[in-house]
Amino acid sequence: MKREISDLIEGKYPEFLENLEIPVEITQGGACMGSDSELFFSENIAEIKQAREICESCPLRAKCLDYATFAEEYGVWGGTTAGERKVLRAGKPLFTLEERRFAVDFRNDVIKMTAAAFAQKYEMTERTCYRWKAKFGVEDLAS
Ligand code: SF4
Repeated sequence: MKREISDLIEGKYPEFLENLEIPVEITQGGACMGSDSELFFSENIAEIKQAREICESCPLRAKCLDYATFAEEYGVWGGTTAGERKVLRAGKPLFTLEERRFAVDFRNDVIKMTAAAFAQKYEMTERTCYRWKAKFGVEDLAS
């Protein structure tokens, strides 16, 4: 497991576990709604430029960039490319929606599942599960 994902599961970045979807304003009111979404995930320079131009007129640009900087690994968001967002993160970790969902499920499972069931689901040793339970201060349901 990536070190950063462990940090995420442990709760070091609680803000990343709160909103597990693209902010609804972006999906409903972004200037990109109704545009060809392939433009936003293209490798073609002219298409990337077109996507950026759409973002320039978007009233949600700042919010979109805020969200995407730490959540979106690919594509044009908030008028920036993936490479530009990497620079903006300045070495801080990016957590995709899938990683955030995994962290939330993992946290819930550590608390709710028995060590045996947890170990089977995540293909880990029960000992690893007990370590996680200890971190969260929960006892094994089976004990
Ligand atoms: S800033 Fe760009 S990607 Fe974000 S919602 Fe607006 S148009 Fe869509």
